[in-house]
Amino acid sequence: IVYQKKENLGHIINCSFEFFPPKSINLEKNLWFSVEQLSKLKPKFFSVTYGANSGERLKTYEIVKKINKKTQVITAAHLTCVDSTPDELKRIAQDYWNNGIQSIVALRGDTLKKNYRHKMYALDLVILLKKIADFDISVAAYPELHPESKDAKFDIMSLKKKIDAGANRAITQFFFNVESYLRFRDNCIKNNINVEIIPGILPVYNFQQLQRFAEMTNVHIPKWMFEIFYGLDDDIAVQKIIGSSIVIDMVKNLSSEGVKNFHFYTLNQSEVIYSVCRMLGL
Ligand code: FAD
Repeated sequence: IVYQKKENLGHIINCSFEFFPPKSINLEKNLWFSVEQLSKLKPKFFSVTYGANSGERLKTYEIVKKINKKTQVITAAHLTCVDSTPDELKRIAQDYWNNGIQSIVALRGDTLKKNYRHKMYALDLVILLKKIADFDISVAAYPELHPESKDAKFDIMSLKKKIDAGANRAITQFFFNVESYLRFRDNCIKNNINVEIIPGILPVYNFQQLQRFAEMTNVHIPKWMFEIFYGLDDDIAVQKIIGSSIVIDMVKNLSSEGVKNFHFYTLNQSEVIYSVCRMLGL
């Protein structure tokens, strides 16, 4: 019997991976194992998130620098503007640029303060960064609408402003309904947003945790997923196998619609994503 792999997408698609600063030395081991394993896939870039408190902020910087030393992979630093003054942001940006960090994921960020009126939005951060240097900038997009969004049109126009101000691409919030991503992408094209809208893919490792993420982010979990994961709360190993299969289907569907780049939210775990990418031929 000659085994032939039906679809090898390795030559048509590319991937990128997001990590977060770990909270302990023990968890740091997972991060470095994942960085090493996923760098074998020759990703387009890595990115490291930017936490809400100042300790984590410094960590983003340290981790990006360390990844740059350990791997050949371009690593983008996430930067939020919610808790910083423009002067602080200018200093951070200048420091990044001076230290060779030229890729930024520019975000507004969130605050726990009630009735907070934002002084800066991600658009303002993009404008500020571009005044400092010619950063490569990614911004966030929301196929199923940002939780604070007034309506879809307003959200699309906020994205357009970020792109018109110089952002190079958008990375989406995670989603499971491929249709909603495709509709959103069509809408971007209709509104002359001509950069790549890279789908953010979050593999299911733990369905209960996913439901919490989804609630916070306004992401719809389809009914069929509740059915598949029903009764599996204590079986994380099985959840991960099912999660892999869901991601493979999503990537194949999106790829058949012309999507070429995929951004994976790793949660600092590489096992599922590495297997998925190998199955896809990367
Ligand atoms: P914006 O683009 O500023 O938009 C936020 C909301 O405000 C939208 O509803 C928009 O329509 C609205 N809006 C825009 N301009 C105006 C205006 N002038 N007046 C009124 N409303 C306006 N968070 C972190 O803390 N750290 C991270 O590292 C991080 N990484 C992320 C990576 C990705 C790919 C994504 C999708 C999200 C990430 N987030 C991160 C979460 C993000 O910070 C939140 O979703 C935040 O609520 C919005 O950020 P934004 O950059 O999309 O904001």
